[in-house]
Amino acid sequence: MARKFNFSAGPAMLPTSVIERAQAEMLDWNGSGMSVMEMSHRGKEYMSIAARAEADLRDVMAIPDNYKVLFLQGGASSQFAMIPMNLVGDKQSADYINTGMWSKKAISEAKRYITVNIAADTSDSGFTTVPSQDQLKLNPDAAYVHYTPNETIGGVEFDYIPDTGDVPLIADMSSTILSRPIDVSRFGMIYAGAQKNIGPAGLTIVIIREDLIGKASAGTPTMFDYATHAENESMYNTPATYSWYVAGLVFEWLKELGGLEGMAAINKRKAEKLYAAIDASDFYANPVAIHARSWMNVPFTLANPELDAAFLKGASERGLVTLKGHRSVGGMRASIYNAMPEEGVDLLVAWMQEFERNQG
Ligand SMILES: *Cc1c(COP(=O)(O)O)cnc(C)c1O
Repeated sequence: MARKFNFSAGPAMLPTSVIERAQAEMLDWNGSGMSVMEMSHRGKEYMSIAARAEADLRDVMAIPDNYKVLFLQGGASSQFAMIPMNLVGDKQSADYINTGMWSKKAISEAKRYITVNIAADTSDSGFTTVPSQDQLKLNPDAAYVHYTPNETIGGVEFDYIPDTGDVPLIADMSSTILSRPIDVSRFGMIYAGAQKNIGPAGLTIVIIREDLIGKASAGTPTMFDYATHAENESMYNTPATYSWYVAGLVFEWLKELGGLEGMAAINKRKAEKLYAAIDASDFYANPVAIHARSWMNVPFTLANPELDAAFLKGASERGLVTLKGHRSVGGMRASIYNAMPEEGVDLLVAWMQEFERNQG
């Protein structure tokens, strides 16, 4: 069986060993005579799977005890509404940092519910950098500060965690969670859709400091209130049981790999190899400021866009797929999330060099 190296921005590759384990357990999980998909979410077996996944995630990310971990549905996009509904409390407004497409979506959704103050905006640069700490115009009376540590489309990643004083910092980590160690205690809340670095689509993880729960605005739907899910161990209604289970297998895989320190070392190496190949050539270019380059999503262009199709065709023949850039950016985008093997990056770099020699 030849598995492709899939550079998709999401849903993305999963570790082969995780899929094999899920396959081995598909018909009969642990002698239960059932697939995980068929289990009651309130049964003893499934409860043990869910608890183990949460414990492993807490372990891998070193999540402090005063944070709840919620396993929700609705994607990161539902969080764009849940955040203002739950966190504005008796304040009037929140600060948002705008660094690209996903920040913009979070901002436009928040504006339906609250006053949004733009604390920084890098659109002047074409969203190719991140603001520095001293460029942030933070309102000390804001309910929270929201930002996107990694902009999946632009390939722009913060190289620091903004200091927001006593104002809770909220991070959309959909495309960078678990890629390297982070200090969770610096955040009020972290959230991520699963389909990039966690597991199958359908699951959304929210890591939220307990004191921020229970202040939802009047009229917030029950399902959109963090308190509902926190009080019910994410089992108020049926959760995305199978995605939660596979996410648990991914957390075990991360632990075997040496946790997030081990993962970060691999990710750094992969990203450095790819950026080095781009920078060593006049044929390929990446527009992002060096300090803001993403470890996870690497957009790059060819000197002659008329060669894009030939580049993609040759890549595909070598098992390197889904490299076409986002329609708003053009060119190529290589998403090199945790599960992309280093071998995939090596093969991509080799193909880039071969293509340049033949065409450049
Ligand atoms: C993919 C992505 C989203 C959207 O996630 P859904 O789960 O599809 O709603 C939001 N933010 C970022 C940074 C993303 O990469």
